[in-house]
Amino acid sequence: MKKIGHFINGAEVDGTTGRYSDVFNPATGEVQAHLAVASADEVNDAVAKAAAAQEAWGATNPQKRGRVMMAMVQLMNRDMDKLAEALSREHGKTIPDAKGDLQRGLEVIEYCIGAPQMLKGDYTDNAGPGIDMYSMRQPLGVVASIMPFNFPAMMPLWHVGPALACGNSVVLKPSERDPSVPMMLAELFVEAGLPEGCFQVVNGDKEAVDTLLDNETIMGVSFVGSTPIAQYIYARATANGKRAQCFGGAKNHMIIMPDADIDQAADALIGAGFGAAGERCMAISVAVPVGEETADRLIDALVPRVEKLRVAPYTDGNDVDYGPVVTGEAKQRILGLINSGVEQGAKLVVDNRDFSLQGYENGFFVGPHLFDNVTTDMDIYTQEIFGPVLSVVRAKTYEEAIGMAMDHEYGNGTAIYTRDGDTARDFAHRINIGMVGINVPIPVPLAYHTFGGWKKSMFGDLNQHGPDSFKFYTRTKTVTSRWPSGIKEGGEFNFKAMD
Ligand code: NAD
Repeated sequence: MKKIGHFINGAEVDGTTGRYSDVFNPATGEVQAHLAVASADEVNDAVAKAAAAQEAWGATNPQKRGRVMMAMVQLMNRDMDKLAEALSREHGKTIPDAKGDLQRGLEVIEYCIGAPQMLKGDYTDNAGPGIDMYSMRQPLGVVASIMPFNFPAMMPLWHVGPALACGNSVVLKPSERDPSVPMMLAELFVEAGLPEGCFQVVNGDKEAVDTLLDNETIMGVSFVGSTPIAQYIYARATANGKRAQCFGGAKNHMIIMPDADIDQAADALIGAGFGAAGERCMAISVAVPVGEETADRLIDALVPRVEKLRVAPYTDGNDVDYGPVVTGEAKQRILGLINSGVEQGAKLVVDNRDFSLQGYENGFFVGPHLFDNVTTDMDIYTQEIFGPVLSVVRAKTYEEAIGMAMDHEYGNGTAIYTRDGDTARDFAHRINIGMVGINVPIPVPLAYHTFGGWKKSMFGDLNQHGPDSFKFYTRTKTVTSRWPSGIKEGGEFNFKAMD
């Protein structure tokens, strides 16, 4: 059986604890690798080595750090097929989806080529007699990044890219479900010219995470995953005096107004609701048509589209719509929630609870499900399902629809489909959700903007990628300097002269 260790000081090393967790092939249900589970000592050792490497890296000029990013972009493009295959094999998503995962990460690395521009400071000439004032952004030191399973390339790159570009070292804890691509990315960074030790990967479980949260050398923590864990990580990291940004779960609503193009909205819902088996934090899991007629037309448009979805392993060609979910446990949780929806009175319009794929009976496949007449008190509405299940909640008015999205505890993404500019503008202005699409179902901001939700989808104040990431991974130092001519003029330091 293949063993996956840790990536320390430029090379993969075996785990020393003798503890391993299983990495599955979700399409077959078979265990395909044993993943080392790090002890506290192994994690602390990785952090100490990262700190040793950071001194020289932090002193490197930003242009050179940008060049490492440039080389990384080329290497990722060179290895795109290999990376995508490794990603699909552990995660289960289709190859085009895996390439999308890699591409959206790569775009943040491209953005980081601009590190010299992003790290420029401010300067005030003549703040007082002979006095100048300037501020600069300096790296935090060593930062930690703790990852979810659903974007094993994009999420690490969103953190590691800006953190390294700012001159930090990073200790990454991948998801235990799909750790291979993060390990491959660490290796590619070394090939791109990153000094050994600046990007460490420790694999493991809660013990590894808690060790990172308590290690005094770690200055910043970036987390992405479910909301209860995000809340926990934020509380423990900040109680230990660390800077933290923790991104949690989601329940994204799409409002469909009576004037919307229903075919366009239905097509968008198929991609946004079922793509990657619904395992996206920006997936649309709730459709809110406004008015009974809109709802009836939407259901009529959705049913044949949902029934046509092709669910198969990524190896089955390019017309596969989505693959298995990540584990057998996830499959059981999703089916449990679907049953609860039926028990609580929702109408299961497309029912695939007995879905099974010939030759892959042990794989973690879940057929597509469409619910109508969902109400806001049902578990399928209040909870994040993170599976191929779309719920239609009918609203009588626009106010009722927007109120629903506003009242939900999650606030990651949302969308509205309408031809009316006034309604769209009102929606974008009033909604208490971090990322908004107008006739765009998955409004993931590009690398040079920032990504983050509101409410229980985010704990902290600075978002991922874009300008926020350069702020998160640096701290500001402000220098006030006075030269002899200023002293002569003012004698003592002359605050008054600064008024
Ligand atoms: P998860 O919370 O189960 O795990 C995330 C990480 O936390 C993993 O590395 C895991 O090892 C670690 N972890 C789990 N339990 C822990 C504990 N008790 N103590 C310390 N560490 C622990 O999340 P997941 O299932 O891997 O990912 C799916 C979730 O991530 C979904 O809720 C999804 O919405 C969310 N997500 C959010 C965003 C965003 O930007 N908001 C992006 C992607 C995914």
